[in-house]
Amino acid sequence: MLTISRAFRIVVDESTERDGDLVLRSGVVSAGHLEASTEALVTGDGDETLDASGCVVTPGLVNAHHHLLQSAFRALPGTRGVAMRDWLPTMAAAYTRAGVDADLAHAAASVGVAEGLLCGVTTVADHHLTWPVGSDGVAIATATADAARSLGGRLVFVRGSAGDDPQEAAVSAEAIVRALLPRTADGMLQLAVGPAGVHSDSRETFELLARIAAQYGLRRRTQANEQVDVAIAVEKYGKRPIDLLEDWGWLEPGVTLAHLCDVTGDEIRRLAASGITATHAPGCDLPMGWGIAPVAALRSAGIAVGLGTSGGGSNDAGHLLADARLAMQVAPLVGPPISAREVLGMATAGSAAGLGRPELGTLRPGSAADLCLWDVSGVADAGVADPVAGLLWANPGRRPKHVVVAGRVVVRDYELVNADERELVARLGARVPGVPTR
Ligand SMILES: [Zn+2]
Repeated sequence: MLTISRAFRIVVDESTERDGDLVLRSGVVSAGHLEASTEALVTGDGDETLDASGCVVTPGLVNAHHHLLQSAFRALPGTRGVAMRDWLPTMAAAYTRAGVDADLAHAAASVGVAEGLLCGVTTVADHHLTWPVGSDGVAIATATADAARSLGGRLVFVRGSAGDDPQEAAVSAEAIVRALLPRTADGMLQLAVGPAGVHSDSRETFELLARIAAQYGLRRRTQANEQVDVAIAVEKYGKRPIDLLEDWGWLEPGVTLAHLCDVTGDEIRRLAASGITATHAPGCDLPMGWGIAPVAALRSAGIAVGLGTSGGGSNDAGHLLADARLAMQVAPLVGPPISAREVLGMATAGSAAGLGRPELGTLRPGSAADLCLWDVSGVADAGVADPVAGLLWANPGRRPKHVVVAGRVVVRDYELVNADERELVARLGARVPGVPTR
C-alpha cells in the first residue's frame, strides 16, 4: 500500500480537485483508507508514505504520440527549418549510419522512456516507423518493450509503417503481435498498429493493418492533415487525407489521428461523427511549419483530444507538460483559448481515451495508480494564485519530484529509481556519435 499524504491539491480529473491524502492499493487508487472491501487487495509490498506537502498531485501524463527511436537523433543538422522532402532523407541517412536494430531500439527507447518518466510521463505511445529491410522486427519491438518495462513506465508499442512493402509490414506486425500479446496482461504494455499516413503508405497497407487490428482487438493510429500530408494527398490522389481515410476504412472508432493541423469545419464534423480520437502535437507541428491544430474546435465538436510530443527528429524534448504549456499558449491563434485544466485533461484522460484506456489519466477510485507529485513550493511558483493553472503557466520545464506507476515509485526526488541515468546516456552514446557522456 502506498499513501500520498498531505497533498496541497489533488487533481482527480479535469473537473474534480481536492486536497489531503490518496491511498493506492495493488496498483489502483483506493476509494478510501478504511474501506473494508479493499483490504483484501493489499499486496505484500509493504507500506510506504510519500509526503506530498507543498505538492500538486496529478494523474500521470500520457504521451499519446512519440517516436522513441528518434531520441537518438535530436537536433540533427539538416533537420531544422527544412521541408519534409529534405527532412526525410536526412533522417533516413542517420538511421542507416547508426544501423537500426534491437540494440539501438533498446538504447533509444531507454533514453526516451526515462526522459518521459523524469518529466511525469507514465505512459508513452511509441509509433515506430523505421524497419530497415532485413531487420528483425520482433527483436526491435521486444527490445523497446523491455526498455520501458525495466524502467517501470507503461508503453504502447505501435507497429507503424512508412512506405514499407504492405505485405511485409503486415507479416511483421502480426509476428510482433503474436510475440508480445502474452506480455500485455498487466497493462504495462499495449500494442497497436498504424501507417505513418496517406502521404507515405498505400490503401493496401491501411487495409492489411486494419485487418490485424480487428483480429487481435488492437487500436489503430496514424498521422493526418499535417500540411505536407494534405499537399501530397491532393497531388497523388486528388483528394484530401480525411476523404482517403474514409474510403480506406480508417474513419472509425478505435482510430486515433495525430496532428490534424489543416482541417476544415466540414472535416471536423465528419471526424466527430466517425468516433475517431485525436492527438495534438504542437511541439512538433510548430517547428515543422505544419500549422496549429484547432483544438478548441475539435473538442467542442465532441472529439476526445490527447496530447503528444512526437519524436526527437522534430521535437527535441519528450517533455509533455512543456508542450501542454505550448498548446495553451498557441490556442488563441486558431480559435478560442483553452484553459490550463483543459490542456492538462488532454495530456492525461484525453490521451488515455485515444488509447482506449479509461483507467489511465484520472485519479478516481479504481483508476490505475499512475501519478506525479509536482513540488510547487519554490520561488518559480511563488505568488501563483491557482496552483493547477500555475502548473502549466508558471515554471516552464518543471519536473515532478516523485512519479508513481501502477502504485510503484519510479522517480524519487527527481531521480530514476530503476536505472542510472548516466548509464542510459552512455549506452546510447556508444551507438550514436554526438551524445556526450560524463
Ligand atoms: Zn509524429
